[in-house]
This record gives sequence, C-alpha cells and structure tokens, in this order.
Amino acid sequence: MTMTKQPNTGTLCVQAGWTPKNGEARQLPIYQSTTFKYDSSEQMARLFDLAESGYFYSRLQNPTCDSVAAKIATLEGGVAAMLTSSGQAASFFAVFNIAEAGDHIIASNTIYGGTFNLFGVTLKKMGVECTFIDPEWSDEQIQACFRPNTKLLFGETISNPAGHVCDIERFARIAHENGVPLIIDNTFATPAQCRPFEWGADIIVHSTTKYMDGHGAAVGGCVVDSGRFDWEAYAHKFPGLCTPDESYHGLTYTKAFGQAAYIVKATAQLMRDLGCCQSPQNAYLLNLGLESLHLRMNRHAANAQAVADFLAADSRVAWVNYGGLRDNKNYALSQKYLANGGCGVVSFGLKGSREDAVRFMDALRLISIATHVADARSCVLHPASHTHRQLTDEQLSAAGIAPDLIRLSVGIEDADDIIADIRQALDAK
Ligand SMILES: *Cc1c(COP(=O)(O)O)cnc(C)c1O
Repeated sequence: MTMTKQPNTGTLCVQAGWTPKNGEARQLPIYQSTTFKYDSSEQMARLFDLAESGYFYSRLQNPTCDSVAAKIATLEGGVAAMLTSSGQAASFFAVFNIAEAGDHIIASNTIYGGTFNLFGVTLKKMGVECTFIDPEWSDEQIQACFRPNTKLLFGETISNPAGHVCDIERFARIAHENGVPLIIDNTFATPAQCRPFEWGADIIVHSTTKYMDGHGAAVGGCVVDSGRFDWEAYAHKFPGLCTPDESYHGLTYTKAFGQAAYIVKATAQLMRDLGCCQSPQNAYLLNLGLESLHLRMNRHAANAQAVADFLAADSRVAWVNYGGLRDNKNYALSQKYLANGGCGVVSFGLKGSREDAVRFMDALRLISIATHVADARSCVLHPASHTHRQLTDEQLSAAGIAPDLIRLSVGIEDADDIIADIRQALDAK
C-alpha cells in the first residue's frame, strides 16, 4: 500500500507515535524502568558520546515518553519533540536552550501568568532579560524592542486567561526579519485547532496538563521543533547550537544532527543537567488523552460557543470574551487561526461588585472552583484572587485581565446542563 497523503489529525491522535511490530502490545507499553541493559561497554560508550541513539537512562530518554513525543511532533507537523515534567519546564527549556546570561528575549505580555513570572523574574535572575510587548502594537513598535542580543520572540496562540489570539503569521515575519525564531505556546489551541508551524512558528511549547491530557490526570509539558529555523545562517547568535560543545567532546549540534539539532541539544544538555523529565506512567496517561483530543476539542469549542452566546444575552452579565462571538476583538484572528473552532475557555464579568462574582462562583454546583483549566469537567476561577495573585493591578491590566474577570473553562458535559448551572447561580447571587 502506498500512502498518498499524511493522515488527518484525528487519525494521528489515535494512531501516531506507537506502531507495534508483529506480536507486540497494541497499546503503548509503559517502560517502567530507569535504566536499559547493554551487552558491551563499547555500545554503552557510543550512546554516551551521542554517536548512536538509544536508551540508557530515563532522565534523558525513555521509549514510552519518546513515542508520545513523536505523536505530538507528528500532530504539530514538526520533526522532533521532547516531553518535560510540566508546561513550565517546557517553556523554560525552549528558551534556555538558545538564550543564556547576557541575552535578551521578547514576549507578548498576554502570556500565561506562570510564564510571565518565569520570564520576568526567574530568567532575569539567571541573566536573561525579557521585554514584554503588547501584541496589538504595530510592527514598528515591536521591531523597536529588538536588540543585537535578542534571541527569540515568544507568544501564545490563545492566551490564558485573556483569550487573546496571537497573529502568528505577523509575529513569525517580525521574528524572521530579525534572524530569530518564533516560539509559540499552543496549549489552549492544541494541534487539533491550530498548527502554528503552518503559519511560520519555529518552535512550539505545550502544557500537556491541559487539553492534551484533558482529564486532569497528569502534569506535563512538551517542546516541539519544526526543524525549519536556519541556526547556521545566524551562527553568531546561536553559538550553543553552531559551535562545538565541550561537554560532548567538541560535537557541534547543527553539524551532527541537522534538523534535530535543537531537540538533541535540549535533551543532551538541559535534560541531562536539570532533569525535568516526564515519567513514563504520565506519558502513558497523556497518550490516552491524546487519543480523543480531536473529539474533545470540537466538543469544548461547541459548548463554549453555546455558553458564550448565553452569557452575552443575559442582562446580569457585564461583558463576555470569547473569540467565537462576532463582536469580539479576537473574532477575525480566531476565524483565521482557529478554523475548527477555538478552545473551551470563556471569560466574563458580572454586573455588580467583586463579592457578587464570588457569590456566583460559590453557588455553582456542576461547575467546580478549581485552579485547573482545559479539563473534561467544567471549572471556574477568579484570576485576580487565585492564579494571578502575585501580579500588581497594573500588570493584571497589562495582561488583559480585569479584576472582575471570571475564567470559565467549559468542559465536555452536555451544554444544556452547563448553561442551567450558570443560570441558577446567576439567580442565586
Ligand atoms: C498551564 C499553562 C502553562 C504551564 O503549564 P504547567 O503544566 O502547569 O507547568 C503554560 N502555558 C499555558 C498557556 C498554560 O495554560
């Protein structure tokens, strides 16, 4: 049989990554093992020299994790991927793999609060400076932030929690005009709704904790490389990839590994030294989630649209933010980048005081109050008093988060039941 085209997303969700040979397990096996055995020390030595690929210690690579990474790489249309212990570790690795003390990065100010803190506070302590930009700034305004030591531009497909949709094509053009890669956090869209590489992004990060797992079972992350950024063309900016690594006997990643250079370096150096690896057990659970990602995302999007329409029509609701609403400022970008529908996250504010918002949330029965988001079960959160507590009011408004913003993560229950719960809580408040 000749395959005439790459299978579609749904097929890849179910089948990519693990292709059993004759007599092997149909479902992805969990390689619950720290180590792997070799017959000769010579073979083992070649693995340590990166002269041969293979498994020796699960901090660096594990077959279960690699199968799931391969599935995500295929879903995103990338060449290589690595799983990490969390989304935070993925964002950190993606940046730290190409930026070090003395370097500068640029990120959208609407990104997830945890990433904002990582870039603005923790990376700063490590000598990497971040300039936060308003993603609605003009090309010229963004361009003005680039410096000779700028190493990357970072954005989020659908920002958590503001719901801002990144103009990935524009961001990619600006990044490439400056000889740096665009890194996109695709957590909220997932490759079922948007494939950022098709719009010019170079590297993708995920918190797999969210929709990819989808069941609130395992914290995890992933870094995916498109393999398309030409590191060698800007070798002076990326010496870590383009000049010999003394910790690997003078091996040069771009020369030895071509398109896989970025992920091999992240594995060989960052995973080796920092060790934020995903457990095979969690990778197995993540894979179960991925098998239904395409079905769940469509349901999340349809339910969220129904909830947003309901909220928009209720006089007790002050405002609603969902990219699928025609009068929303993200509508045009949603139509362009999220053709299959967006995600399940709707934000809104209620008329009345902050206490009204708290009473509303406390009156919910089906929808639970949880820090979690992007889960099969509907849940709700008040960022100003929960996830974003560390941010000042100015930082909150710069990130597009109003103090009255309620983030509703619409699950995959029946839309009628979700709406009925919201209605009774509005009546009760
Ligand atoms: C949750 C989240 C992260 C961080 O992921 P963890 O798995 O919680 O470490 C990063 N980016 C986005 C968009 C998120 O929603």
